[in-house]
Amino acid sequence: MSMNTQGRPTGTGSQGYAAAGSALIPEEPLLFEIGDTEHSGVDLPAVELAGDRLGGFGRKGALELAGLTEPEAMRHYVRLSRMNHSIDSGMYPLGSCTMKHNPRLNEKTARLPGFADIHPLQPVSTVQGALELMNQLGHWLMTLTNTAAVALSPKAGAHGELLGMMAIKAAQEAKGEAHRKIVLVPESAHGTNPATAAFLGYSVKPIPARDDGTVDVEAVKAALSPEVAAIMLTNPNTCGLFEPQVIEIAEAVHAAGAFFYCDGANFNAIMGVVRPGDLGIDAMHINLHKTFSTPHGGGGPGAGPVVLSEALAPFAPVPFVRKGEGGLDMVEHIEGQALGRVTAFHGQMGMYVRALTYMLSHGADGLAQAAEDAVLNANYVKARLQHLFSVPFPDYPTMHEALFDDSFLKDTGITTLDFAKALIDEGFHPMTMYFPLVVHGAMLIEPTESESKQTLDRFCEVMAELANDAKAGNTERFTAAPMKAPRRRLDETRAARQPILKWEKPAELPKAAE
Ligand SMILES: *Cc1c(COP(=O)(O)O)cnc(C)c1O
Repeated sequence: MSMNTQGRPTGTGSQGYAAAGSALIPEEPLLFEIGDTEHSGVDLPAVELAGDRLGGFGRKGALELAGLTEPEAMRHYVRLSRMNHSIDSGMYPLGSCTMKHNPRLNEKTARLPGFADIHPLQPVSTVQGALELMNQLGHWLMTLTNTAAVALSPKAGAHGELLGMMAIKAAQEAKGEAHRKIVLVPESAHGTNPATAAFLGYSVKPIPARDDGTVDVEAVKAALSPEVAAIMLTNPNTCGLFEPQVIEIAEAVHAAGAFFYCDGANFNAIMGVVRPGDLGIDAMHINLHKTFSTPHGGGGPGAGPVVLSEALAPFAPVPFVRKGEGGLDMVEHIEGQALGRVTAFHGQMGMYVRALTYMLSHGADGLAQAAEDAVLNANYVKARLQHLFSVPFPDYPTMHEALFDDSFLKDTGITTLDFAKALIDEGFHPMTMYFPLVVHGAMLIEPTESESKQTLDRFCEVMAELANDAKAGNTERFTAAPMKAPRRRLDETRAARQPILKWEKPAELPKAAE
């Protein structure tokens, strides 16, 4: 048995994380399997109900929840959490997703009672501090992007895209140009871009990428017509490249009467350095869980505020904060407003607190430095690995992420997927695979500014060792990986398409299987 660079034993036959991480229980049973319906972690007095106040809809049988003591429940979740990879347990080099450290200071401020223990229906006079925080966050998002308005409430990047495109649609309708039914989307775009356009009833016209991975203004001009409502362009793009013709593209789009939606998911690479408003964008979402260090969560609370240009500002949704006579006010309704609201209440307050904390703790110069360090780190990874991996777009320095294709694996019998799975056995989360689609067998690595040179060196050494091993024909290390994760190779597509979300009592299993 050998040791890898992280000091973990390598090779097969080990129980891996599961045994080490879960106090000698390699499998974690479900709560229902360890608890029973007889016990409860709480001790509440029985409630005497005077008559049936539920109109006959009251539960007839027992609830049959699993009963556990508090330590039992806590240990269950802690054991489960140790079976997963997280940014707190190791490097998470997913490209395009900006998986950066979530500073603990953010958590401290988010838990202040004035932010954590308030209710959205409280009178505004009692939540002036919270409104001030939202106002400041909005102010800095507009300042960093040089835009005229902001909608804080969307709950993810994709939700923000939807809102931004709804605003564009409303603006086209207000101009009497509802006939514009086409949205241009470059081939390198994230899947949410064409999905958003299609969801709103637009037909999507793809713009091919140039051989160097960027979008050609001439290709955009050729696709523009009086039928085009907008372009959705990501900058820096998903190949990690700053679009060199972004200003010319914005001018051409505006000259054709269309709007420029910018996918701002990669804003981390340019915050404090470039203001997208200066490039001519009309709408852009900002993923607070990427650029501004709020937790990604397991599909948990995210926030994707959208900034809007002067032209789109009248179409911003409610609610938003406004300075009134007696302090700050929440505007909840505007007569005739096109979009109304896109979410219940005001969005994810806890994320606003974390994001503003990140901004204020960095300051303007610190944010610019974070962007520059993120770019430096990505270029460092690229420079250290480009002699072993194949670089599809060697002409440009990269922005926030290093992109490799699978030609270095040619004739090895090893795929990008195999390679990524082998990284799990070395203690790293895999990079983004097979995206962007314009690159064959893509591997997209985004270290972010969070990682130290020491961590990057360790990562690069592991990557180099794997590349050499792949080229040397040690196929099984890859095709059989992961060997040390709690689960081996999964059918991820099936897990996503046919998730088993309901626990059945074992005795009922034969019936359920019919
Ligand atoms: C992450 C991402 C999105 C979607 O954002 P979510 O917050 O995950 O909904 C859109 N575009 C790009 C380029 C992204 O990286």
